[in-house]
Parts: sequence; C-alpha cells; structure tokens
Amino acid sequence: MGKQEWGFKENHEVQAAAAITMKNILEAIISQTDDTILATKPLIHLGHGDPSVYPCFRTSNVVEDALVESLQSTKFNCYAPNLGINPARRAIADYLSRDIPYKLTTDDIFVTVGAEHAIHVLLTVLACPGANILLPKPNYPTYEARARHSLLEVRHFGLLPEKGWEVDLDVVKELADDKTVAIVLINPGNPCGNVYTFEHLQKIAETARHLGIMVIADEVYAHQVFGNKPFIPMGVFGDIVPVVTLGTLSKRWIVPGWRFGWIAITDPNGILYKTGIVDSIKDCLVITAEPATVIQGAVLRIMENTPDSFFSKINNFLKDAADMVYERLKEIPVVTCPHKPEGSMFLMVKLNLSGFDDIVDDVDFCMKLAKEDSMILLPGDAVGLKNWVRMSFAAESNVLEDAIGRIKAFCFRHAKHD
Ligand SMILES: *Cc1c(COP(=O)(O)O)cnc(C)c1O
Repeated sequence: MGKQEWGFKENHEVQAAAAITMKNILEAIISQTDDTILATKPLIHLGHGDPSVYPCFRTSNVVEDALVESLQSTKFNCYAPNLGINPARRAIADYLSRDIPYKLTTDDIFVTVGAEHAIHVLLTVLACPGANILLPKPNYPTYEARARHSLLEVRHFGLLPEKGWEVDLDVVKELADDKTVAIVLINPGNPCGNVYTFEHLQKIAETARHLGIMVIADEVYAHQVFGNKPFIPMGVFGDIVPVVTLGTLSKRWIVPGWRFGWIAITDPNGILYKTGIVDSIKDCLVITAEPATVIQGAVLRIMENTPDSFFSKINNFLKDAADMVYERLKEIPVVTCPHKPEGSMFLMVKLNLSGFDDIVDDVDFCMKLAKEDSMILLPGDAVGLKNWVRMSFAAESNVLEDAIGRIKAFCFRHAKHD
C-alpha cells in the first residue's frame, strides 16, 4: 500500500506564509542596528505608530483616573460577559451615535481585545469556502495575514496616490462577484494618512450596495484629522449599505497597550441581523478571549469625560508633525511623498530607485538605514506597495527633526553622484 500524503500540509504552508507579518519584518529590521552606532545615535522607531512612549503624547489624566477608579471599585475583578459589560457597550453606542443619523444601542456593540481582535473575528466569520474579500492596496497588513490564514481569498483594489489615495471604484466593480463578502476601507487612512470626503464615501457605499456586499469600516483613527476635510464615519451611509465599524482606544486615546477595541453594527435595514452575520460574530466572540474587565469598567468614564482639549492638543501635534515632515522630505531628491497627510499618523514615501547608487529595493533601504543610522521605517512591501516606505510622524518634534536629518544624510550617501 502506498504512503498516504498528510492532508493538512498544503493549508499549513499557506498559513505559515500568512504569519510573516509586519511584526516579523520590523523585528528583522531592528536586528540590523549596530551597538556602536546606537551609542551615539539612539534608536528612532518610526516603523510603527505608537506615540505613547513620548511624554507629550501621554493620555489624558481623565483616562488614567478612570482606570484607577475602575480598579479600586473592586467591581471589575470578575470575568466579563463574552460580548462585553453593558455600561461599556452602551457608552460606545452613545459615543458613535453622536456622529451618525442613527441611534446605536447596546446590542449593536461588541467589545474586543483591540481592533486587531475585531479584524480576526470579522474575517474568521466571513471566511466560508469559495468566498473572497476586497482589500485596499496599500493596506494594514493584519487583514492580509488574517484572510490568508483563514483561506479567505483576497482581491486587491488600488488606492490612487494622484487622487489623494481615493478608492479605484472601477476596479472594485470588476473584482467583485457573487462570492464577494465585503469591502474593507480604512479611513482616516493607514498607511497613507488620507481622509475621504463625504461624496467619495457615498460613492463607495453605493457601489457596495450595487454589488450586494457590506462595508467593513476600519475607523481606528476616527477624528484624528488635521487637514481641510472633516472625519465622516461610514455609518452615516448605513441606510445605503450595512456597515461594520471597527474602533479602538489605542489611537485616539493613545493607550495601545490597554488592548481595548470594538465592533459596531450600523444596519438600520437589519440585513446583517437577518443574514445571520451578527449571530456569527457573537458565536466567534464566545470562543475567543474578551478584554480585561478592569479596562471595560473604565470605558464609560473615558468616553463621557475625556475633554475635547485633549483631542485637539493631540491633533495639533500631529498636524505640526505632518506639515514639518512633508515639507522637509521635499529636500531629498531621491524620495517623493505624493500627498500631504490629513489624518492618522502615517505617510507613504516613494523611493526613486534609479537615483540611488547601491539600494536595490525598499527592504534594502530600511535594512541599511537601520544599520547605519539606527532609524526604523517600514518597507512598503509589508503594506502592499513595493519600493515605498511607510513612516509614522507621531513623535516629538525634536525626534522628527533628528529623523529627517538622518534620512537625508543616508539618502545623500547612497544617491548616485554624477
Ligand atoms: C492600529 C490599527 C489597528 C489595530 O488596533 P488595536 O486596537 O491597537 O489592536 C487596526 N487597524 C488599523 C488600520 C490600525 O492602524
């Protein structure tokens, strides 16, 4: 009798490839740094967006006090219900309802271990045999990794740099078929720092309605806008198309380590309820872990009491940082940033490779920059755009000045001189 092949091998290989995520790539780049150089050039990490390390980005004392009070109340040492404690769910429903024409209720909100967990839950629920999902290119890499791991087919539509990173809707229409389950949209944008207009969001909603697919609106940077465009939540178009919104405390409140996020359903026509998607989300939440109860216990006060002055102070820091970085990058001829950031904490920079002497691609650029200048950026390859790099500008201004200086000197050293 011949030897039987192991049936799980093929899936396992796909899943192992999916595990090569942003974190692995950043670790490989950080491992290039050199102790001798680090002694004079301390590490600058703009490869991810975590400004909580800088004193000027410290969270509001209202947020800290809310957690202390939650802890000392001794009411939140218990296990939490799978979908979250009701005061937290209600607080999120009220918070989101301020900006949309619908009144969300406790039943429309599920709490998650950061937005990362929300992505895992949604894509797990949507991954049925033969299904496909439409993802932007460039994108936040967890979507790609999670889809591949769940054997959910990925189809990419481009974001157009020359149009402020708008969605290429013609491609969206071509890509979708009767097995398409959803389109993912990140607004304000990571990695591009763009913000969509009301008109563009409405067109996306109408296109999704026409295709019969729901919109997954990743709004983890909600309200973190500092250009001319206001932040418009996708939920505004809930009567056109069902919207599942992902949110988090990580970015606006600058406490990414607290691991608290949510899934919100804006579906006034009840489509996601009727088709069983909401029940599947609940089932999936029952079999995964929930955020720490003590954090949930603080959410009501955080949502109700964080002063607007805190948010505007942070947005002003981000605006000044984005303006400075965007202007200073113009001094470097071998890189281009096609669009000034208007939101989030990131921008995308294109490497003009023909202008470099000994840099073969974006990964090579980031590896050498780490080694020679103790400076970390994310290769565009990790977000789906080869030979670009993603840079966070959520740092103190003196750090950003230093960072630009290092990038400029690095590019000058490696540029062709003839
Ligand atoms: C940071 C981020 C997340 C994950 O947020 P957490 O709440 O920290 O898990 C999801 N999507 C995008 C676009 C992000 O930038």
